[in-house]
Amino acid sequence: MEFIDLKTQYRVLKDAIDTAVQNVLTEGNYILGEDVSALEKELADYVGAKHCITCANGTDALTLALRALKIGKGDAVFVPSFTFFASAETIVLEGATPLFVDVSTDTFNIDPEKLSEEIKIAKKEGKLNLKAIMTVDLFGLCADYTKIRAIAKEFELKIIEDGAQGFGGSIGTKRACGFGDISTTSFFPAKPLGCYGDGGAIFTDNDSYKDELLSLRFHGKGADKYDNVRIGYNSRLDTLQAAILRVKLDAFKTYELEKRNAVADRYNAALKDIVTVPVIPSNYVSSYAQYTLKNENRNELQKFLRGKGIPSMVYYPKGMHQQTALLKYAANNKRLSSTEYLAKTVLSIPMHPYLEDEAQDLIIGAIKEYYGR
Ligand SMILES: *Cc1c(COP(=O)(O)O)cnc(C)c1O
Repeated sequence: MEFIDLKTQYRVLKDAIDTAVQNVLTEGNYILGEDVSALEKELADYVGAKHCITCANGTDALTLALRALKIGKGDAVFVPSFTFFASAETIVLEGATPLFVDVSTDTFNIDPEKLSEEIKIAKKEGKLNLKAIMTVDLFGLCADYTKIRAIAKEFELKIIEDGAQGFGGSIGTKRACGFGDISTTSFFPAKPLGCYGDGGAIFTDNDSYKDELLSLRFHGKGADKYDNVRIGYNSRLDTLQAAILRVKLDAFKTYELEKRNAVADRYNAALKDIVTVPVIPSNYVSSYAQYTLKNENRNELQKFLRGKGIPSMVYYPKGMHQQTALLKYAANNKRLSSTEYLAKTVLSIPMHPYLEDEAQDLIIGAIKEYYGR
């Protein structure tokens, strides 16, 4: 059994993907070009953002967003401690200071009350320029943008939405990657919408951020590619990956997102009385980048499942404030207890749109057996 079954997805989409790849090879344009522009338009339309700028990966997308917002030395960015390393890593890479915020144990996302509290504490200390909140849409669920937007406004902070796992999720009629002043996503193969290598994208409604991002991803280009007006990066999405993504985006829109939710509904119905299943607030749709249980005997359950040939993963075994590379930013770790609790209790089980009922029944049966049900 696969944790995320990309081979089956390829088998289903093979004809369309092979044709798309063949077309790029036949045409011989490997950098940018029509497939990249068309994908950017399709992504922007789906998300409901004015602009989409693709780039080399989700980590670069965050770096480019921080650069466009002029965040660097002496600046601080609030970020949840329970996330993938790249969220915090990019803040440090740009010379800024990450200020960790605890999360809600229900949604796994940044806790707005605790965010307010951390902002007030940092403001009182007065050592750093408070610039932005980097929210994370963890496991496919959007953060609480109604509350976060109000907090950002009150304290005059920008929002960078790290939607690497959130793509496809929504609150009401508004889709993930449309909530930040700048929002980002990743097309790493295991994400809700993945390519066959590395890829990423940035979304914004702001025309001047768009211009700056287009320049930054291409060596800081100005009027043309041999006119360089700023120090930038080489961070473009490969044309081959764009061609693959156009096929996969179509499948994602047509049935994959729906199927992910059907798989989640089935897990919920069978497991909700036995373990703690994910909490999706009303009006929210998750794209279920992960289906994550909480369990005090997580390691034992994982071992039991492994014995039955069922893969599971721990996302994440440590908070950012517990990471060796980030210890010097962990001065407030007394206020990150929910992150520490989750790091000890979370377990993600197989979740992908090609999970057959029989395989899912096997997983459900094994979990029931573990609990003696
Ligand atoms: C995967 C991920 C990233 C980084 O994306 P890459 O494409 O792997 O660079 C950033 N943030 C979060 C929350 C992620 O899950």
